[in-house]
Amino acid sequence: MNAYNTKAESPVTQTAVLIIGSGFSGLGMAVSLKREGKHDFIVLERATEVGGTWRDNTYPGAACDIQSHLYSYSFKPNPRWSRVYAPQPEILDYLRRTAQEEQILGHVQFGAAVERASWDATRQIWVVQTSVGVFEAPVLISAAGHLSDPSYPDIPGIARFKGQVFHSAKWDHSCDWAGKRVGVIGTGASAIQIVPQLARTAKHLTVFQRSAPYVIPRRDHVYSDAEQGMFERFPETMQELRDELFWGNESRFPQRRQVPTFIEMIRGMAASHLQAEVPDEALRKKLTPHYAIGCKRILISNDYYPALMQPNVDLETAGIECIDETGVLLKSGEKVELDLLVVATGFEATELPIAELIHGVGGQSLAHKWKDGGHAFACTTVSGFPNFFFMLGPNTGLGAGSMIFMIETQINYIREGAGYVLDRGVVVEPDAQAEIDYTDSIQQRSQGTVWVSGGCSSWYLHPGSGKLTALWPDFMSQFRKENGSFRTEGYNVRPSVAAAQA
Ligand code: NAP
Repeated sequence: MNAYNTKAESPVTQTAVLIIGSGFSGLGMAVSLKREGKHDFIVLERATEVGGTWRDNTYPGAACDIQSHLYSYSFKPNPRWSRVYAPQPEILDYLRRTAQEEQILGHVQFGAAVERASWDATRQIWVVQTSVGVFEAPVLISAAGHLSDPSYPDIPGIARFKGQVFHSAKWDHSCDWAGKRVGVIGTGASAIQIVPQLARTAKHLTVFQRSAPYVIPRRDHVYSDAEQGMFERFPETMQELRDELFWGNESRFPQRRQVPTFIEMIRGMAASHLQAEVPDEALRKKLTPHYAIGCKRILISNDYYPALMQPNVDLETAGIECIDETGVLLKSGEKVELDLLVVATGFEATELPIAELIHGVGGQSLAHKWKDGGHAFACTTVSGFPNFFFMLGPNTGLGAGSMIFMIETQINYIREGAGYVLDRGVVVEPDAQAEIDYTDSIQQRSQGTVWVSGGCSSWYLHPGSGKLTALWPDFMSQFRKENGSFRTEGYNVRPSVAAAQA
């Protein structure tokens, strides 16, 4: 059935492949199918345009902290990146252009929020109820991302605050903070980009820090016209740069395995950055982390520390007791009066909201299956959930490196897996024991990494089981070696009902 002609016009729309989400992963998946000549797919997107996290995170200062020549599709190099670390509008523009040039937009059903996806065991298809109608397909791919649903802090009294309050991922662009008393909760990757921007014109800015991050210099520069021209005329130079950046990141993995020489190098870099940028000893003490470097994301910034030293900025480390109508009450008993509060407190990344909506064999939800932490065969498929592929799910995140590499690895795996299902008329589902063996191997590899033994609490670990569920605990190249190509070992494969009847 042609997806173009059938979208949401009939009560039930049928297609071969349903993709949830049109961020980097969903869009890349769609392009991959399209380039292979597979046009029978629909992308369900709850928003009104493509872009995922790069559409939603529009806060001032938003930029990628991975180099753009690496943080882009290998199949769609962009010679015109303006600088090493491109700002958010440029990345969003790149995704929009990709959708347009690759003719994906005609496949996207915008405004379609998934309400429930259920495996119909009799018909062996996925039935997906959305806000705009029902969609059915033998193959379902979740590309909803793990940084798509903001996490709000559970601070007593926050709802009573009478000033303006919003999450970093839901920036209110009508808000002018100039001359206002502003608070930022959080000191993660988002906050350290926002703080220097707010500090410029806020009357007073208070940064509420729970744990100090490690910060290293941002080695950024603008690409000159000549450099961009060279990338355009000689595309192989872009590939060379991409390779160099990839292997540079790859060589940092031993830091996460706490190999002493590597640890000393990065720890030294962060310590001298702090020492050089913050002459005030008391402030430096507050900014010194109390856990092993790499346990949380290592942040890159040249303007965060200088912003904290401005006379209109305070770094508050006393801890938040509660919030009332006019501001934040600290555990020290002091009160910080505020007009505007920005919560830069991250995302629902350990217990993914999309997992609540996906129901496999017997009606079991993915969230229930993952109640002790996400786990998947080849980090992509789940027993009890036939013909279902999950992108950026369990153990696919990175401590250092480009998520696009992980996404493209999964794209290849899923395109081959979906092709196997559709071309042969079969149902595939990972064997329960194979899944356990695979996830055990991941947990074994996570032992000794800084993420589990570095003495911090992070969203990389499942809060209940303490297992490393968000990150891949090995080299990125190993992920591709293990999971870059679909193989039937470890799967139960059976003919589909339709094929058996034929
Ligand atoms: P995050 O890394 O999860 O940081 C959240 C911050 O909020 C942390 O400092 C945390 O403190 C604090 N926090 C959370 N709940 C709190 C509470 N109840 N009271 C006080 N403080 C609280 O979130 P994020 O900065 O949005 O970044 C999330 C992820 O997005 C990053 O890891 C990265 O993968 C991605 N990101 C990437 C870029 C990029 O340039 N590529 C930019 C932004 C974000 P603790 O540290 O004490 O928990």
